[in-house]
Amino acid sequence: MNTHEASYYAATANIQTDYPSLTGEAETDICIIGGGFTGVSAALHLAEAGFKVSLVEANKIGWGASGRNGGQICQGHNMGHEDMIKQVGKDTADLLWQSSVDSVALVKELVKRYNIDCDLTAGVLHVASKRRHGDEIKESVEYKRNTLGYSAVDYLTADEVAKKLGTDRYFGGEFYREGAHIHPLNFVLGMAQSAIAHGATLYENSTVISYKTGEKPEVFTEKGKIRCRYLLFACNGYLGKLNGAAAKKIMPINNFIIATEPLSDEQANRINAERVAVADSKFVVNYFRLSADQRLLWGGGENYSQHFPKDIASFVKKHMIEIYPELASHKIDYAWGGTLAITLNRMPHIARQEQNIFVAQGYSGHGVALATYAGAIFAKAVQGSLEGIDAFERLPIKDFPGGTLLRWPGLVAGMLYYSMLDRLP
Ligand SMILES: Cc1cc2nc3c(=O)[nH]c(=O)nc-3n(C[C@H](O)[C@H](O)[C@H](O)COP(=O)(O)OP(=O)(O)OC[C@H]3O[C@@H](n4cnc5c(N)ncnc54)[C@H](O)[C@@H]3O)c2cc1C
Repeated sequence: MNTHEASYYAATANIQTDYPSLTGEAETDICIIGGGFTGVSAALHLAEAGFKVSLVEANKIGWGASGRNGGQICQGHNMGHEDMIKQVGKDTADLLWQSSVDSVALVKELVKRYNIDCDLTAGVLHVASKRRHGDEIKESVEYKRNTLGYSAVDYLTADEVAKKLGTDRYFGGEFYREGAHIHPLNFVLGMAQSAIAHGATLYENSTVISYKTGEKPEVFTEKGKIRCRYLLFACNGYLGKLNGAAAKKIMPINNFIIATEPLSDEQANRINAERVAVADSKFVVNYFRLSADQRLLWGGGENYSQHFPKDIASFVKKHMIEIYPELASHKIDYAWGGTLAITLNRMPHIARQEQNIFVAQGYSGHGVALATYAGAIFAKAVQGSLEGIDAFERLPIKDFPGGTLLRWPGLVAGMLYYSMLDRLP
């Protein structure tokens, strides 16, 4: 049986799930492949709406990126609103911006509605790692406030950031008052419990090995089969070759996090008195926050291979010490990695492949809120309301050049080039 990757989150999970594996044949309205935010949110929203829904997860609920990530939820997409306007016009760009705001609100609302104990804490601060990024951030805050009419974001000077974070390494920042951070594994587990309470069936340790399309799609595992009316692929970075057309839209990349031993109150208050989540402006982003028990959770460093680095703790710790050298002697209690999926334009790929077959993936580092949201808009699509998915479909997601086989060499070279620029002033 596959268990969770050892991590701070796995060690502090509220529950240990032990859902059945799929054996024999079953018939359902909707079948979902993948038990992360995308799949579990879809199951929850569909079960709430009264549908018969089955979710099939190869490992454990939350085993993938959803149980291992930085837990940061923030308004905005990787692609700026102005670039979106050039591609899809103002109306769709506005809808997409609003979807990012709604996605954050949805996570908070689900936490509240289902009383999910996942350390929900307010505030996300994006900081400038280079001087020119500080100017760009200032402009971006003005744009959000004046053009998008979004006023819950404030520009902070370098001094103001230094006061909040106890370091003078940054050149200003933007503070999202309505951004937040959560214990992601406990969030997805809480959604799973709520989905089951509404009648959803969740299978674990059940790898889907193939599927058939048609009026009644069929999904096959080694020991079972599900026939359904609608099918959702929610496998993200772990999709592999299961769905070739979807696989061409994404590139899986690995990202890593460490958790220090708990900091003293004095240390914790010095580096982050307000307990906000932080992300810097590097191409390979560093992101960090304090956990509920005052560990510094620091994410940074990524690789593009099939394997994680042998010593994840050292791989990541060097980035933390650059900002907080005083933590060099702190013990690293946990170090882990996960695989996420990016798309070519870094916007999510949420689409209908056929009338009754959907895919939602490629959140490119913004999946905590957007994957949860994707599950909700898929549920609406099944009920005949396609506006949410249409907005994303209007922004085309191109295949990676070379498809799944050849996407690596060129893309990896590009990624390494940009990550090298991170090291320049
Ligand atoms: C280290 C790290 C840090 C991150 N930090 C952040 C952050 O701070 N904020 C943010 O917004 N995003 C972050 N992300 C991204 C975010 O975690 C993902 O976008 C999000 O979790 C995607 O959710 P998902 O449900 O689509 O995929 P996943 O959670 O990866 O779930 C996919 C599931 O599909 C299952 N599966 C795959 N193939 C099959 C099959 N054949 N049969 C059955 N099941 C299958 C897998 O076992 C897996 O459980 C981070 C990601 C990583 C790895």
